[in-house]
Amino acid sequence: MSLLEMKHIKKSFNGVEVLKDISLTVDKGEVLGIIGPSGSGKSTLLRCATGLETQDEGLITYEGTFGLVFQNFNLFPHYSVLKNITDAPIKVQKRKKEEVYREARELLAKMGLSNKENAYPYQLSGGQQQRVSIARALAMKPDILFFDEPTSALDPELTGEILKVIKDLAAEHMTMVIVTHEMNFAKNVSDHIIFMDNGYIAVEGTPEEVFGSSNERMREFLGKFE
Ligand code: ADP
Ligand code: MG
Repeated sequence: MSLLEMKHIKKSFNGVEVLKDISLTVDKGEVLGIIGPSGSGKSTLLRCATGLETQDEGLITYEGTFGLVFQNFNLFPHYSVLKNITDAPIKVQKRKKEEVYREARELLAKMGLSNKENAYPYQLSGGQQQRVSIARALAMKPDILFFDEPTSALDPELTGEILKVIKDLAAEHMTMVIVTHEMNFAKNVSDHIIFMDNGYIAVEGTPEEVFGSSNERMREFLGKFE
């Protein structure tokens, strides 16, 4: 069963085509990794998939709801950790407060942040803030979780803790779309990978197929990580 389907998506900004003809599907329980050079259209693709941008052409269909985790955490600075997580489930989803608080505390425990529920974002490390933002996304019980370079704003020593949280979610069969520049992680966590180049999907397939591809742009891109 596919949860997300994008067909022939095109998007331009100021007359410059940034997504040129993107088609993809994400099946339930699947992890889709998206890699590619800066400016190739990865964030725009996620923003169209999640409705933050409207495509100019093409069709997007999805089942259920989705959550988003950004590069820069995007926590509400004036809300405590607990309020960051519980606010939308209570106010937007109109769920019962007691249930939302109980689940938020379970998520915090899972993220190793039980002692931080009353802290404010500025009192946390980048890795802790990103774990709160993952908990906040999960609190909405999304059918798909989208990540846009979740570790790129973190110091290298904090990257591993976030990658581990995402790997654990993959082991629980959470459906995820992950834009990342962590190549080993992309290779290990993804069921399917697309390599974007200049607004196109230049290569796609299993991690083995994509990382073994002889596509010139792909080889050049991978060369930068060696
Ligand atoms: P990536 O995430 O792969 O680095 P982006 O999707 O952010 O790439 O950007 C692709 C191209 O689209 C870039 O040239 C970027 O400058 C341009 N772009 C993205 N968003 C906007 C916008 N809101 N307005 C104008 N140009 C944009
Ligand atoms: Mg981006």
